[in-house]
Amino acid sequence: MTTHFTDKVAVVTGAGSGIGRALSVELARRGAKLAICDVDMHGLAETEALVRGIGGDAKADHLDVSQRELVLAYADDVAAHFGKVNMVFNNAGIAFTGNVEEMSFKDIDRVMDVDFWGVVSGTKAFLPHLVASGDGHIVNISSVFGLFAVPTQSAYNAAKFAVRGFTEALRQEMVNNKRPVKVTCVHPGGIKTNIARNGEQVEGRDHDKLASSFDKMARTSPEKAAQVILKGVEKNKARVLIGGDAWVLDKFVRVSGPGYQRIIAAFSRRNGL
Ligand code: NAP
Repeated sequence: MTTHFTDKVAVVTGAGSGIGRALSVELARRGAKLAICDVDMHGLAETEALVRGIGGDAKADHLDVSQRELVLAYADDVAAHFGKVNMVFNNAGIAFTGNVEEMSFKDIDRVMDVDFWGVVSGTKAFLPHLVASGDGHIVNISSVFGLFAVPTQSAYNAAKFAVRGFTEALRQEMVNNKRPVKVTCVHPGGIKTNIARNGEQVEGRDHDKLASSFDKMARTSPEKAAQVILKGVEKNKARVLIGGDAWVLDKFVRVSGPGYQRIIAAFSRRNGL
């Protein structure tokens, strides 16, 4: 059966786990040719095996998205390997927990380097190839934390708000400049992945407690997230929200305006977050 994704060349960063893995498998199932990358080579090999297990084609490479020169070289390598690139899912991301007063500049830089600059590099590196394909799509993964802020997530919030601004401006530019590249920004709510367990925090915060609070709040499976993202891509949505929590929180923040901060601060205080 031919799908929207059949024979399209799709790049997925952070494909070794969670949403990136589920996206890779679902894209393969729908007939896309895949370039998958991650810093976690063990996780990436598992994803590659899953893709090949369903008869998919995958070029798997180590890539740290925070290394701009490597991302630029990777984009050329993928384009040379497949002869074209149609879709890029800038998905790789990390979590970090701590108050502004507790975090070092290094902690903040690390989050921005991966979660914001990784997306910028992936977008800029692949954009000429996507334009050349005549049928391109950039999908940047922000978060509900790109729609509202919460205590202890200032760096992650900053990166995800920035991804949203960057992506929304790019979409408008592609339309105004009549470029053959669609652009979608994705805002997942809590997705059951290893992001919190893989994440870091300032000294004195309990890693296991943070990870288990996240596990309790994350309701949507990565497989469901991948399906929602690909539906949004098919429909060329500007914004994709994932999960009931994302829909409710988005509405709540829009209705309460800046007043949401008082309510979220109280909720966080009460729950020791
Ligand atoms: P995940 O399960 O931790 O997967 C992320 C993958 O990215 C991991 O394999 C990770 O490797 C990799 N990665 C980390 N730093 C990288 C780098 N510099 N270069 C390349 N790969 C790197 O997390 P996920 O939940 O699927 O997250 C995917 C995206 O969704 C992220 O952008 C995240 O911010 C966003 N998101 C997630 C949620 C959620 O609830 N899960 C909600 C909103 C938004 P390591 O394991 O070695 O770190």
